Amino acid sequence: MLPTTLDEATAALTAVPAAVPVAGGTDLMADVNAGQLRPAALVGLGRISEIRGWSYQDGHAVLGAGLTHARIGRPDFAALIPALAAAARSAGPPQVRNAGTLGGNIVSAAPTGDALPVLAALEATLSIAGPAGARRELPVSHLLAGMDMLRPGEIVAHVRVPLLHAPQSFLKATSRTGPSRALASVAVVLDPVRRGVRCAVGAVAPMPLRPLEAENWIASLIDWDGERGLAPEALHAFGEYVAMACIPDPVPEEGPDGTTSPPPPLPAAALHLRRTVATLARRGLGRALA
Ligand SMILES: Cc1cc2nc3c(=O)[nH]c(=O)nc-3n(C[C@H](O)[C@H](O)[C@H](O)COP(=O)(O)OP(=O)(O)OC[C@H]3O[C@@H](n4cnc5c(N)ncnc54)[C@H](O)[C@@H]3O)c2cc1C
Repeated sequence: MLPTTLDEATAALTAVPAAVPVAGGTDLMADVNAGQLRPAALVGLGRISEIRGWSYQDGHAVLGAGLTHARIGRPDFAALIPALAAAARSAGPPQVRNAGTLGGNIVSAAPTGDALPVLAALEATLSIAGPAGARRELPVSHLLAGMDMLRPGEIVAHVRVPLLHAPQSFLKATSRTGPSRALASVAVVLDPVRRGVRCAVGAVAPMPLRPLEAENWIASLIDWDGERGLAPEALHAFGEYVAMACIPDPVPEEGPDGTTSPPPPLPAAALHLRRTVATLARRGLGRALA
């Protein structure tokens, strides 16, 4: 089925409840080819023009779920939402970026989804299209945390992102050079109007993590009205703060008799990941403030 409107697509999904929507197919077809998924029918979203561009509304960009990573990575989009463009440019090899979409990245909700920490830092909201013209809004973090899932017949139509007109960064560490999945990623977004720093760490947990205390602490040190930059020590401390919040020390273990024994040491791999996150957060904030 190849609907050309959202309402046709939701009607097709409602008519055949076992049908599955497919956008670029980069995740879905990998599951089909691996024998992990056998959809009874597919509803292709590629011909729905209303989800392939973006518009502006009340200081926000309303992004179509069908925007490809390649399109998001282009300079005109990068001028709008630089961190999302940087994430899109790093999302896999060119053939994946040409086909893979923002909506697919969100609904797949892989821990390594590169758009996800950026959307978490931006506190993006999803606009969901449902059967019979129904529409509802859902914070992206609720979907990623499993607090609210897509219901039968529903499609992610748009992603609403605030236009902050301020520097942002996205940095990703991988295990090898060239395009590959994130070991860890960090998005940093400055919000000068609210005098806030928002940060999200991807790939180290099932969903992006927000180190809220570290965000508030560093925001209180920034000279929002002046030119004074942050001292290198503050940038370094921010990186450590973020990393400790996302990869904390093990807690002391309590025995059956009520006594506590010292916590086991953090495994070497977790220590390495913590150092990686600290470096990404320090550099990400440094770039945003540069
Ligand atoms: C070799 C390779 C490398 C990759 N590297 C990266 C990487 O570095 N970083 C990264 O982030 N990703 C990577 N990916 C994953 C993939 O490209 C992205 O997650 C992509 O954004 C998925 O989008 P899609 O349009 O292809 O989704 P699809 O495969 O079409 O769909 C994925 C899931 O989302 C559902 N879906 C899609 N669109 C909608 C919608 N609008 N509403 C409701 N449900 C929907 C589908 O039903 C399916 O369950 C890689 C994939 C491959 C194959």
